[in-house]
Amino acid sequence: MFILKGIEQLEKAIAKAKKVRPRVEFDRFGRYRVSGSKGYYTVICRKSDNGYKTVDCTCKGAEKGLVCYHAAAALSLHVALARRERAASVEVSADEMNNAPYLKPTIERPVERVGGMRIN
Ligand SMILES: [Zn+2]
Repeated sequence: MFILKGIEQLEKAIAKAKKVRPRVEFDRFGRYRVSGSKGYYTVICRKSDNGYKTVDCTCKGAEKGLVCYHAAAALSLHVALARRERAASVEVSADEMNNAPYLKPTIERPVERVGGMRIN
């Protein structure tokens, strides 16, 4: 497991991932399966309670705290997904609501007359 602090940290692993081109399979958000020399490894990307982004991989290198190319490959997918998720969950702010053009009711019904009778 390692803590992700910046992209510089991943440079070597990204370079290797580009060369090796592992298969990255989406399991669920934050959990990916990446092909390696000995089958598939599971990579888990998450944010810890204290705000650190941690990446876990089941390979030997990651066990020693190394940034492996599996993690780099999974992270590129994770970051893209996270970005899309953020974009989708953008809520309309109260300000935008206030500035929305006032919509007039479009259905107008003429007042119905009931014959010519007046009811007293
Ligand atoms: Zn790994």
